[in-house]
Amino acid sequence: MHEKVLIIGGGLSGLLVANALRKRGVIVDVLDDGNNHSSRVAAGLVNPISFRRTLLSWNATLFYPSAKTFYEEIQKNATRAIIKELWLRRIFSSKEEVTTWKQRLFNPEFTPFLLPLVEEDAAFGPYGSGRVNGFCIDGEALLNQLKSTQNLIQKEFIPANIDPEQGVYDGTKYDKIIFCCGYRNHENPFFKHLPVQATKGQLLLVEWKNSDENTSYHRKCFALPKGDSRFKLGATFEWGELSLEPTLEAKEKLLSDFTSISSDTLVVKDQVVGIRPTSPDRKPIIGLHSEYPKLGIFNGLGTKGYLTAPYLANHFVDHLLTNAPLDPTVSLSRFER
Ligand SMILES: Cc1cc2nc3c(=O)[nH]c(=O)nc-3n(C[C@H](O)[C@H](O)[C@H](O)COP(=O)(O)OP(=O)(O)OC[C@H]3O[C@@H](n4cnc5c(N)ncnc54)[C@H](O)[C@@H]3O)c2cc1C
Repeated sequence: MHEKVLIIGGGLSGLLVANALRKRGVIVDVLDDGNNHSSRVAAGLVNPISFRRTLLSWNATLFYPSAKTFYEEIQKNATRAIIKELWLRRIFSSKEEVTTWKQRLFNPEFTPFLLPLVEEDAAFGPYGSGRVNGFCIDGEALLNQLKSTQNLIQKEFIPANIDPEQGVYDGTKYDKIIFCCGYRNHENPFFKHLPVQATKGQLLLVEWKNSDENTSYHRKCFALPKGDSRFKLGATFEWGELSLEPTLEAKEKLLSDFTSISSDTLVVKDQVVGIRPTSPDRKPIIGLHSEYPKLGIFNGLGTKGYLTAPYLANHFVDHLLTNAPLDPTVSLSRFER
C-alpha cells in the first residue's frame, strides 16, 4: 500500500505518473524547479505511423487509443484547447514508398490510421501523398492543466536532502520517490548509471499563407498548424548537445527541408530549443532502484512521449501499487544485467 509519493520533475512524464497515482487515491507531491526544456517546447504531434519505412509506431495499436482517451478526458475539465485532431499528410519521396503505402492500406493493422487515397492526394510532391489520422497536444496547456490538480513544490532537487533507504526528502517521509527529470537525469546520483541521452531539437514558428489549418505536412521536416497562418516547423535532431541556444545552422536546415513540402515563402517569427530525453534502444527507461527500492525512475520518453506516456504511466503505477510485472522492453533492468 502506497499512501504518499514524491515525484521529482514536473514535465510530461512526472505529471502523468502523478496524475495516475492520484486517480488511485495516493497523495502526491511534485517537485519541479520550473526549468522545463522538453514537454513545453515539443510540437506535441501524436503520429501512429513511422513515416521513414511506413510502419506502425512502436505499440501504436495499444498506445494510440489510450493516449487519445486520456487527453480527451483531461480536455473535459480544461478551459484552454489541449487536443486538436489532425490529418497528417505524408508527401511521398519515391515510387517505392507509394507502393508500400498502397500495400499498407489493405493491412487491417493500419486501417484505423490510414485514410483511403483520394484524387487531391496526388497534388502534393512528384509522387503524391497520403493521409493519416492523428492529433496534436498543446504541451504548455496540458502541463498547466495537470499542474493545477497537483500539489506542486517549485524547488530544485537537492541530493543531500534525501535519505534513499527511508524514502525521506526534506524531512517528509514518502513510500516512493520517483525521478522524472528528463535529459537532466545525469544530475541524479541514484540513476545516472542509466543511459538517458540528450537529443537537442529546434523548431521554428513561421507564418505560412496556407489556409488548411487541420493538416500537418510531413516530408523532410513537418509543418504543424497553430492557427492564424502560424505553423511550427521542425524539428532538428542534435545528439548529445546540451546547449539551449538556437543556431543559424538549424534555422537554415529547417527552411531548406521545408522546400520538400512547398515552394511558398515563409516568414520566421521565432525559434525555440528543447532537449529530448532519449535512450540507446529508443524505449523508455522505467523501474525501481535495485539497492533502494523506495526510489524509482520514469524517463527516456524520447521523440514520441506524447504517444507513449499515457499508457506507460498507468503501466508503471500498476507496478508500483500492485507489483504487476513491468514490460521488460521498458524496464531499467535491461541496462543493469
Ligand atoms: C523540439 C522538440 C520537439 C518534440 N516534438 C514532439 C512531438 O511532436 N511529439 C512527441 O510525442 N514528443 C515530442 N518531443 C519529445 C517530448 O517533448 C518528450 O518525450 C517529453 O516531453 C519528455 O518529458 P519529460 O517529462 O521526461 O522531460 P521534461 O519535459 O524535460 O521534464 C523534466 C522536468 O524535470 C524538471 N527537473 C529536472 N531536473 C530537476 C531537478 N534537479 N530539480 C527539480 N526539477 C528538475 C525540469 O524542470 C522539467 O520540468 C519533442 C521534444 C523536443 C525537444
